[in-house]
Amino acid sequence: VFEHVVRGPEDPILGVTVAYNKDSSPLKLNLGVGAYRTEEGKPLVLNVVRRAEQMLVNDSSRVKEYLPIVGLADFNKLSAKLILGADSPAIQDNRVTTVQCLSGTGSLRVGGEFLARHYHQRTIYIPLPTWGNHPKVFTLAGLSVKTYRYYDPVTRGLNFQGLLEDLGSAPSGAIVLLHACAHNPTGVDPTPQQWEQIRQLMRSKALLPFFDSAYQGFASGNLDADAHSIRLFVADGGECIVAQSYAKNMGLYGERVGALSIVCKSADVASRVESQLKLVIRPMYSNPPIHGASIVATILKDKNMFQEWTIELKAMADRIINMRQQLFDALSTRGTPGDWSHIIKQIGMFTFTGLNSEQVAFMTKEYHIYMTSDGRISMAGLSSRTVPHLADAIHAAVTR
Ligand code: PMP
Repeated sequence: VFEHVVRGPEDPILGVTVAYNKDSSPLKLNLGVGAYRTEEGKPLVLNVVRRAEQMLVNDSSRVKEYLPIVGLADFNKLSAKLILGADSPAIQDNRVTTVQCLSGTGSLRVGGEFLARHYHQRTIYIPLPTWGNHPKVFTLAGLSVKTYRYYDPVTRGLNFQGLLEDLGSAPSGAIVLLHACAHNPTGVDPTPQQWEQIRQLMRSKALLPFFDSAYQGFASGNLDADAHSIRLFVADGGECIVAQSYAKNMGLYGERVGALSIVCKSADVASRVESQLKLVIRPMYSNPPIHGASIVATILKDKNMFQEWTIELKAMADRIINMRQQLFDALSTRGTPGDWSHIIKQIGMFTFTGLNSEQVAFMTKEYHIYMTSDGRISMAGLSSRTVPHLADAIHAAVTR
C-alpha cells in the first residue's frame, strides 16, 4: 500500500550534515547546522547544566509522573521572567500565560495553531529571508504565510524602507513574525531606534507581534540586551506572543526545551487563552517532557547557578564574536576582493556571507566545507585552527 510513496527531499539545513558525514576528507568542515562547538570542534554541555542534572539525579523524591498539559509550573514562571524581565508589569498583572513546549519549533507551532483557531486574522508575515522552517510550521498550523522585505543584498544590511513599506501595506490585524535578536540567517537586526519605529507602525495598524526568541543571551552575551525588542512591545501594554528556545543559550538542543508566552490585555483573558492552549496541546503530544525543563528551572531559580550560567553563556557568545574578527582579519590579510565588514557587523550564530550557491558548491567540492546554499555559515562551527582554511576557500571562490 505504500509502493506509490516518493522519496521526500532532505531538509536543506539538516541535509548539509548528511552530506558532511559522507565526506572522508580530514579537511572537512561543517558550517551548516547551528549548534555551538568548542575551539576543539566539540559539542559543549555547560558545567552548570551538568551540575543541575547531578542535583536532579541525587534527589530521590523526584518521580517520572506526567507533567500537566502546560508543563512544569516553575519553568513557565521563570521563563516568562527571563524573557519579559523580572519587573515586567505584564507578569505582575498576571496578564501572561506561559506554556512549556518542545523547544522553539514546538512553541511556534502551538502558537500558530492557537492563532489559526482563535484569532480573527489568518495571515502571518515572515521576513525575507527567514529560518527555513518558519513557512512550513505556520502553513501546517493553518495560517497563510506572506513575506515582508528584510534583507538588502547590496548593503548586506537591513532593508528598513522595504520593511516599513511592506508592514505598512499589510492588512490591519495581520500577524508579524519578528526575530527577537540575531536574525537567522542574515545576522542583521534593527537598531533600537528602528525597533521603536517598527513598534509604532505595528501598533498603529494593530499588527500582532509574534516574536521568535531562539538566541537570548547567545547573541550579545547579555540576556537583557537580547530581549530588548520584545520588552519594547510589552511595555506599551499591547498583546504580544513569544516563542522561547533554550537550545542555544543553555545548550539543551536535543532536550527540546522551550516556552510559548502570550501576553494578553487582562488576567481573565490570559486564563481563557491558556485553557485553549491546552486544547491545542493535548491532542498533539498530551504533555511535554520533564527532564530538560527541570534542568532549566533548577538553574533559573538558584542565584548562584543563574550567575554561573550567564558567565558560560557569555563565553560562548564571545568566542563567536572572536571568530568573526578572526575570519575578517584572515580575509583582509589575503586581500580578498570585496567589502567583508558585514562579517563583524552581523550578530549571532551565523554570517550571511553573500557567497552565491555556485561559490558554495565550489567550496564544498574543492575545500570540503559544508554550508547551506544561501551562503550562510555557522560561526560557532569555526575555530582558530579552521579559520585559515575557510578564508582560503572564500578567497579562491571569489577570485575564481
Ligand atoms: N527559530 C530560529 C530563528 C532558529 O534559528 C531556530 C533554531 N535553528 C529555532 C527557531 C528553533 O530551534 P529549536 O526548535 O531547536 O529550539
